[in-house]
Amino acid sequence: ALTIGIVGLPNVGKSTMFNALTRNNVLAANYPFATIEPNVGVVPLPDPRLKVLAEIFGSEKILPATVSFVDIAGIVRGASEGEGLGNKFLANIREADAICQVIRAFDDPDVVHVDGKVSPSSDIETINTELILADLQTLEKAVPRLTKEVSGKKVDKSVLDAALEAQKVLEEGTTLFAAGVDVEPIRELGLMTAKPFLYVFNLDEDQLGDKELQAQLADLVGGADAIFLNAKLEMDLTELDEDEAAELLESYGVEESGLDQLARKGFHALGLQTYLTAGPKESRAWTIHKGWTAPQAAGVIHTDFQKGFIKAEVISFDDLVATGSVAEARAAGKARMEGKDYVMADGDVVEFRFNV
Ligand code: GDP
Repeated sequence: ALTIGIVGLPNVGKSTMFNALTRNNVLAANYPFATIEPNVGVVPLPDPRLKVLAEIFGSEKILPATVSFVDIAGIVRGASEGEGLGNKFLANIREADAICQVIRAFDDPDVVHVDGKVSPSSDIETINTELILADLQTLEKAVPRLTKEVSGKKVDKSVLDAALEAQKVLEEGTTLFAAGVDVEPIRELGLMTAKPFLYVFNLDEDQLGDKELQAQLADLVGGADAIFLNAKLEMDLTELDEDEAAELLESYGVEESGLDQLARKGFHALGLQTYLTAGPKESRAWTIHKGWTAPQAAGVIHTDFQKGFIKAEVISFDDLVATGSVAEARAAGKARMEGKDYVMADGDVVEFRFNV
């Protein structure tokens, strides 16, 4: 499964947030035989549609899609030079498919800041600089090798060109993702700044309703997704039932918990989407990549579904809710038979027909 690596300077609230995340661990509840790694948190992707489907179909169970987070040991200035946890840190981050930076905005004199002051913009710069420097090191090693391999006709010139372009962008201080560099030809290099980034700003409780501050912070991260939360509050929320949690959030002027926002935005940053299935046993969301066709989507349930794919009966969630049942949706002409070239859309409620 694709994973999101959580990184950040020391004392920004990573562990607090990660602990809150793992309290929501769905693996333990739904997959009792799965091995649970201490630094991995698998959390449900919030999807209110599943509850609605479960009511329509009388489902016994609801199985949401999941998002996996990996807690990566703290980054420090100099990580790219292998200081402290540097090397291990970089190896872990290379394995992640997206990077979630936790940035401290809360101001607490009792919690020491590594650089002596709370400054979200300079913290972001510190982390991004380390990642850019590490990628540049990777490229400095790779470019001479690729140059040789191209002249020996072992590697296509497009690979070297991609590496040189990446080097140029990084030297200007820009991340590869932000610059939109196509790193497909140099995928094997595992360049870190080519991964999607998202940012969690750990705020003081009384900053949670401060939209002006949040807009300023969002400006620091270009087009990347930003999530605003208070890590300690997220921890408290895990102890409450649904109604109590909603009430507490409301008292801070917040609609959705930070962790739910993080799960949704993280899932999106990974380029994933879901489709839905429903029946008396379960209502379930299945994870696919954006752009996948119906047979590919069927393969997520079972490889036989993909091999023997005939067609998919698709009803959009909204049509199903409006008509009230599959039979009514069919009668109203809202059930579509889609073939093997159909590209799945978000909110498709699907039943696959296949040969065994
Ligand atoms: P990490 O080093 O980034 O993993 O940070 P921790 O989660 O261990 O938090 C460092 C310290 O900051 C701990 O004493 C936390 O209780 C405290 N802390 C974490 N989040 C918040 C927050 O949102 N507000 C305040 N005031 N303190 C926090």
